[in-house]
Amino acid sequence: MSRRKKIYEGKAKILYEGPEPGTLIQYFKDDATAFNAQKHAIIEGKGVLNNRISEFIMGHLNSIGVPTHFIRRLNMREQLIREVEIIPLEVVVRNISAGSISKKLGIAEGEVLPRSIVEFYYKNDELGDPMVAEEHITAFNWATTQELDDIMALALRINDYLSGIFAAVGIRLVDFKLEFGRLFEGEMVRTVLADEISPDSCRLWDAKSNNKLDKDRFRQDMGGLSEAYTEVATRLGIFKDPNSALEA
Ligand code: UDP
Repeated sequence: MSRRKKIYEGKAKILYEGPEPGTLIQYFKDDATAFNAQKHAIIEGKGVLNNRISEFIMGHLNSIGVPTHFIRRLNMREQLIREVEIIPLEVVVRNISAGSISKKLGIAEGEVLPRSIVEFYYKNDELGDPMVAEEHITAFNWATTQELDDIMALALRINDYLSGIFAAVGIRLVDFKLEFGRLFEGEMVRTVLADEISPDSCRLWDAKSNNKLDKDRFRQDMGGLSEAYTEVATRLGIFKDPNSALEA
């Protein structure tokens, strides 16, 4: 597939060495996994859709001054990104109850939360990404207090911005997961948004019907995943013609 040096392979993406020092190439695979990779399938075209949707979102975030690792999309499945040191946290922002918060706290799916809630999970597949408190994060040096402050502020800003972008196209941003990294620039270290933002990492519901337009379709064996992702991309104006989605 590629003669470039592979740096890391995850469940849905591969990182290759970039063309210049300090850059990487992020390749989006068609693999879908859930429940800590116990469930796996190949969904043709998913990588192409996530590459485009994540490009759109990261590009907009860059343009409003939210620092991200994203530089530019290279082709159907790849984007050029800045190399960062990933902070080992999954940062989840929730607006509406669904998934694990509904299960754990017994809140009905679909209930609007009293305010947006930010949660932290320690990125560790062997442990199943356990939820952790700020106390654990700073005590075990996964991130500093300053980094956590930056992450909180960025996560809430991203939530406000994305909630607006999606609301404008009739989609409710129920919840989503973010990852952050350390960008080293000479003597300076900056906290920047990394990874991807796509329907793999968000819950997106149609505002009228509450139809799921995200990875829950895969988790819950509902089918129609690539059609749902194509719908999200089309509503965001990424594809003028939905039939051309996979030729972009
Ligand atoms: N999420 C993710 N990767 C994970 C876990 C969660 O992208 O490893 C996203 C998920 O798609 C949802 C949000 O984070 O948009 C909150 O997920 P939740 O804690 O409800 O867990 P789930 O029910 O998805 O296991």
